[in-house]
Amino acid sequence: MTPPLVNSAAARDIANTLHPYTDLKLHQEVGPMVISRGEGVRVWDENGKGYIESVAGLWCAALGFSNERLVQAATNQMRKLPFYHAFTAKSHEPMIDLAEMLIQRAPVPMSKAFFANSGSEANDTAIKMVWYFNNAVGRPKKKKIIGRIKGYHGITLAAASLTGLPANHRSFDVPLPGFLHTMAPHYYHAGLPGESEEEFATRCADELEKLILAEDPDTVAAMWAEPIMGAGGVILPPKGYFEKIQAVLRKYDVLLVADEVICGFWRTGNYWGSTTLNVQPDILTCAKALSSSFLPISAVLVNERVFQGLADESHKIGTFGHGYTYSGHPVPAAVAVETLKIYDETRIGDHVGDVGPYMQAELRRRFANHPLVGEVRGVGLIGAVELVADKATHKNFDPAHKVGARLVKLTEANGVIGRALPGDALAFSPPLIITRAEIDEMLDAVGKSLDELAVQLRREQIS
Ligand code: PMP
Repeated sequence: MTPPLVNSAAARDIANTLHPYTDLKLHQEVGPMVISRGEGVRVWDENGKGYIESVAGLWCAALGFSNERLVQAATNQMRKLPFYHAFTAKSHEPMIDLAEMLIQRAPVPMSKAFFANSGSEANDTAIKMVWYFNNAVGRPKKKKIIGRIKGYHGITLAAASLTGLPANHRSFDVPLPGFLHTMAPHYYHAGLPGESEEEFATRCADELEKLILAEDPDTVAAMWAEPIMGAGGVILPPKGYFEKIQAVLRKYDVLLVADEVICGFWRTGNYWGSTTLNVQPDILTCAKALSSSFLPISAVLVNERVFQGLADESHKIGTFGHGYTYSGHPVPAAVAVETLKIYDETRIGDHVGDVGPYMQAELRRRFANHPLVGEVRGVGLIGAVELVADKATHKNFDPAHKVGARLVKLTEANGVIGRALPGDALAFSPPLIITRAEIDEMLDAVGKSLDELAVQLRREQIS
């Protein structure tokens, strides 16, 4: 590896930037990949090499890396009113429009929308709302929050506590007390020999019920779930899972919060992942594709019952003492309004209805029988190809071999920026605007990379 040139962007990055989700020490030697421009489903690095972005950045640039309407929406709003806030009953049109559009499009009847800047903040907000609500309705003991192993809900203190991934807990002294985790609904790994999907779903619901009973139902406030787990490995629940889970939650009056930060806005083939997976949440959080990630914004939708609790409590106290300087910021709100209009006007859902099943079929046709691949999974425009050391037992590679990271290095050399998830699953979540031809190009490069990896691993006697 040649060291970055003095004064190059890479050298200045190494000297000055502390990167999220990076081995900080290794970065001092290896340096960054500097991305300098984007167009459609592609980005280009500083040396002019182009890549298809197979994960839309971080599952988020739904309309790709160029869109003139969004540029115009932002600049028009910046000229008209570059900032205003929403504290003490102040409001402005972009926020009013966006709240109305979200409430109209919600998967189940929702009452109000609150705005934040990131998925983590939306989930932290929703956790505080759940606690505030239970204080309002006279249940001060009912406060514990249940997440799931492999669930991802962000990295702020409470959201990280709710997340169920080791890298987000280790050495950060989270989870905080009061956060619990139930099993991940991953049939491929956790299903028992001879157990049907339906039976596995029943076992997941039984585990949840046992946890609630062991903790005392009067102390359990809410459960969080991504309709499809994203960062934990693109894990689709078994058939009947959410029906059974929701029956348990209703029995003990435990609220359900759907984290739609990845699944929202057509990713799974419907407007919401909740529709695809039959989830009826009391609270919904969303971000990312809400503004196609051209600017940061997230939202929390609450149903009427939750809203009434919040309203009563805030009236007693005199204010709902929560909100960000940038809650509902007019510029990202205007971009989000324009994004939702584009989804409607371009009938992006019909497009995903075409290219989503195509991508799923091609992933399976090309990779299901590859010697390194254990499971191909997904729906709509979200999917994963999981690499295993043993196809018969579903055993993963030793993490020390960093097989997923090595595959991503190869896909990058072959013109596709990919993302390896824990358990060596290569994720697919391309911009929703991707065409069939671009899917072919992306999967050609991934196929070539998988073959190259297989040769390397055989040579090193890893597989
Ligand atoms: N929830 C889910 C399901 C996510 O995938 C993410 C981010 N990948 C978050 C929450 C956190 O969002 P942010 O990074 O914007 O804080």
